[in-house]
Amino acid sequence: MFENKERTDIAELGEFGLIKHLTQNFKIQHESSIKGVGDDAAVLDFSEQQVLVSTDLLLEGIHFDLAYVPLIHLGYKAVQVNLSDIYAMNGVATQITVSIGISSKFPLEAVEDIYKGIELACNKFNIDLIGGDTSSSKQGLVISITSIGHAKKEDICYRNGAQEGDLLCVSGDLGGAYVGLQILEREKLIFLENPQIQPDLEGKDYIIERQLKPEGRRDVVDLLAQLKIKPTSMIDVSDGLASEILHICTQSDKGCTIYEDKLPIDPVTYETARELGLDPTVCALNGGEDYELLFTIKQADYEKLKNDVDISIIGHITDKNSGCRMISKSDVVHELKAQGWNAFKK
Ligand code: ADP
Ligand code: MG
Repeated sequence: MFENKERTDIAELGEFGLIKHLTQNFKIQHESSIKGVGDDAAVLDFSEQQVLVSTDLLLEGIHFDLAYVPLIHLGYKAVQVNLSDIYAMNGVATQITVSIGISSKFPLEAVEDIYKGIELACNKFNIDLIGGDTSSSKQGLVISITSIGHAKKEDICYRNGAQEGDLLCVSGDLGGAYVGLQILEREKLIFLENPQIQPDLEGKDYIIERQLKPEGRRDVVDLLAQLKIKPTSMIDVSDGLASEILHICTQSDKGCTIYEDKLPIDPVTYETARELGLDPTVCALNGGEDYELLFTIKQADYEKLKNDVDISIIGHITDKNSGCRMISKSDVVHELKAQGWNAFKK
């Protein structure tokens, strides 16, 4: 992966030199970041606001495959998936810490690439890098990011607030990241069998981007604030729509009905799924990694959202005893099941 690049041994810099080298370009932008990198702990001040904290752990071979994930994208995505959790609470994300474990096969240039991706995401989403930890790793690359944000107490959206009659809404479109991954996996297998063959990704840019370069939906949080809508519940779509709907329904002690023909699926996702012999609806329900926001709103807020092309209303909340159901295009009732991505699957 790094053949064409210079290779500088990380040992030449030492741990402190490495940390300084990696973090020196990052600028602190928020008043709430009183102290960032450089002391034993960072110091933050959110005065009246409640503080949101979320962590993700990414392991090579479990969560990403360096055969087709460029390191810049990996850094970018690691930040985005983390910010997505803060947005899913209806919060403003302001800081991250980044902890990395790097095996000795990694030259400095590889770690620099990861940090370039982290920096891109921080600049684009206005985030301060305020700390982290650095270690060598015996097996594979490890990245753990913690994101910190804030919100007024009354604005925070939990998973458990959905009420009967509320409308279920989702931003963007679904299934693209999963179908993009299937294409990358297919091309990897072809490459391993015959390294002379160039990957055939033509026309698949959108879904490859959905897999490699997801964007947290801060814009949806802003839109909801502008429209003066406070969702009654919210969650981000990381494991798959069905799994996230079930989280909202279980925690809110409710059921739901969604409609297959309302699920937002991009044409490239749809066509490619078909090409691969996959059911586009199953990809949208169980694919995962879309990082869209799934939320419920009161019916009274319907008028404010109904014309927004980026938000789809896919169903509504019912009483618990009705269960969680999807009405298919041919009017058959299916029970929703979570078959989302599971890190413990054998
Ligand atoms: P400690 O010994 O307390 O763990 P370190 O020497 O590891 O402190 O870290 C020094 C400073 O650099 C701290 O502010 C820490 O948060 C920050 N830091 C360490 N590793 C990273 C990293 N990978 N990315 C960003 N900041 C880091
Ligand atoms: Mg340390």
